Amino acid sequence: MIRLGLFGGTFDPVHYGHLRPVEAARVELGLASVLILPNPLPPHKLAEPLTPYVHRKEMLRLALAEFPHLTLADYEEQAAGAAYTTDTVRRVIASLEPGERELWLIIGADSLVELPRWKDPEALFRDVCVAVLPRPGVDLDAVPPGYRARVRLLQTPLISVSATDVRHRLRQGDSVAGLLSPAVIEYIRRHGLYT
Ligand code: ATP
Repeated sequence: MIRLGLFGGTFDPVHYGHLRPVEAARVELGLASVLILPNPLPPHKLAEPLTPYVHRKEMLRLALAEFPHLTLADYEEQAAGAAYTTDTVRRVIASLEPGERELWLIIGADSLVELPRWKDPEALFRDVCVAVLPRPGVDLDAVPPGYRARVRLLQTPLISVSATDVRHRLRQGDSVAGLLSPAVIEYIRRHGLYT
């Protein structure tokens, strides 16, 4: 039986609040690896100016060098427009060799609060098991009990960082040391991102 994880995001930019809890989730769930799925056009962020996908993906590639069991996967590039998780999961499943496997979709607690409004959550629950990373400041009482009962709440470390916070610090010229991989910090500097 192969146990595989999936973790999607905007990653603008990728930070340790993404990757450390996901690596801990991989160990807790006994997964061989986790596919990391950057979204070129996230449906819930269409109104926001995003850093071009090529930069977000390259920063992810650099950051993942520290995490050998987390693998960059570009399935969401195949979406015609905005990429919905339900469709991406279908695409991943269609690409896998037939055989016994268990797929775990890993999401942050703030995403669980939003999940009832995602495209076709019922299809998602049929296709994958859902595991939730606790996130500082997120109150899971906002999640309808019907949804809470169908996910596994993980014991992963609480890391108090968001990409919004990282972008804010970079714009202010504040340090982001320890929040991002050094290779990502260097990439941001070299390309003049988030200034
Ligand atoms: P932004 O601040 O721009 O909204 P973000 O830091 O929340 O970005 P995303 O790329 O939107 O990052 O998130 C991808 C996934 O990672 C989501 O499921 C989100 O809940 C989760 N996530 C992000 N930061 C953390 C964190 N510090 N702890 C746990 N989960 C997190």
